[in-house]
Amino acid sequence: MYHREQTRAVQVGNLTIGGNNEVVIQSMTMTKTADVQATVEEIHQLEEAGCQIVRVTVNNMEAAEAIKEIKKQIQIPLVADIHFDYKLALKAIENGIDKVRINPGNIGRKERVQEVVRACKEKGVPIRIGVNAGSLEKHLLEKYGYPTAEAMVESALHHIRILEDLDFHDIIVSLKASDVPLTIEAYTKAAAAFNYPLHLGITEAGTLFAGTVKSAAGLGALLAQGIGSTIRISLSAEPVEEIKVCRELLKAFGLASNAATLISCPTCGRIEIDLISVANDIENYISKIKAPIKVAVLGCAVNGPGEAREADIGIAGARGEGLLFRHGEVVRKIPEDELVDELKKEIDNLAEIYERT
Ligand code: SF4
Repeated sequence: MYHREQTRAVQVGNLTIGGNNEVVIQSMTMTKTADVQATVEEIHQLEEAGCQIVRVTVNNMEAAEAIKEIKKQIQIPLVADIHFDYKLALKAIENGIDKVRINPGNIGRKERVQEVVRACKEKGVPIRIGVNAGSLEKHLLEKYGYPTAEAMVESALHHIRILEDLDFHDIIVSLKASDVPLTIEAYTKAAAAFNYPLHLGITEAGTLFAGTVKSAAGLGALLAQGIGSTIRISLSAEPVEEIKVCRELLKAFGLASNAATLISCPTCGRIEIDLISVANDIENYISKIKAPIKVAVLGCAVNGPGEAREADIGIAGARGEGLLFRHGEVVRKIPEDELVDELKKEIDNLAEIYERT
C-alpha cells in the first residue's frame, strides 16, 4: 500500500500535494463563481480559517472568465470544478487556474482530451480525477451490479490510463461515496493500486453535526492508515465550518504542525468554574493561533494539572481563584475573574516564541 509519503508529489500553485508534504485542507465556495466579489469574500473567510486550496464551480463561460479576476485577489491555489465541458477547462486554464477537477473519460472525443492535457502541461496545471459512487460509468455498474469499491477503483484507473497514455502524470484522485465503509474500502484499495496522491472526502456527509461525525469516522480511519494527502469535509453548512472540522481532524492525528490544540476536562461534581463557556471561549481564541501548542482548561485543581501534563499552558478552577500551570506544574494563582484573560496572554506569549524559533 502507498502511504502518503510514498505518493507522487504534485504541484498545485504554490503548494505541493503528496510526497512528504503535510495533508492539505480544502473547501469549496458556495457562491456563484461569476460573482467575483462574493466569491473572493468567501475565499478570504476560508483562507483566514485555515483553508489551503479552494475549489469553485465552473459551470458556464462566465464562471470560467471570472477566474482571472478571482486569482488576482486571493492567496491560495484555486481549483476549477468542471463536468464534461472541455471548453470550460481550456478557458479556466487560460485564465490561470491552479488545478482542474475533471474526469478525462467524460470529456468525449480523444482530440478534446489531448487539447486539455496539452494546455495543462503548458501551464503546469494538475488534474484531479473525481470518482463518485453516485455517478459511476454505466459499464461498471453493469459489471458490478452496484457501486462497489472495486468498481470505483476501476473507474479511477480508467481515467488515469487516459492521462498516462498522453504522458501526463500530475494527477490527484478522489473516490468519494456517502457510505462510510464503502469510502474506506475504496480509498484503501486505491492506495494499493496506484501512487498518485489521494484527495479524501465523504460526499453528501450531512449537516454540521452528523456530517462531522460521519466524515471523522471515515477519514479518520484512512488518515490513521497513512492514506490521504489532502482532505475536504463536505457539510451542509457554511464552508468555514468544513475548515474547522478538517483542522480538528488533522490535529487529532498529529498531522497539523501549525494549529493549537485544546484539552478540556469532561466536567464532574468537583467543578469550580464555568468550564463549558471558558472552554468554548478558549477554543475560539486558539483557532487563529498558528503554532502547535497545547492548552488545557480544567474544572478543578484536585486532579486537574496532573490530568493535563502534556499541556504547554493551562488553567484549573479553584474556589474564588484559579491556578495557572505549565506541563502539570502550578506556576501561580490568579483571581477567578482574571483567569481567562491571563491564559490568553500566556497563549499569545507562547505563540510568539514559536513564531520566533
Ligand atoms: Fe472533575 Fe476536576 Fe477532572 Fe474536571 S478536572 S473532570 S472537574 S476532577
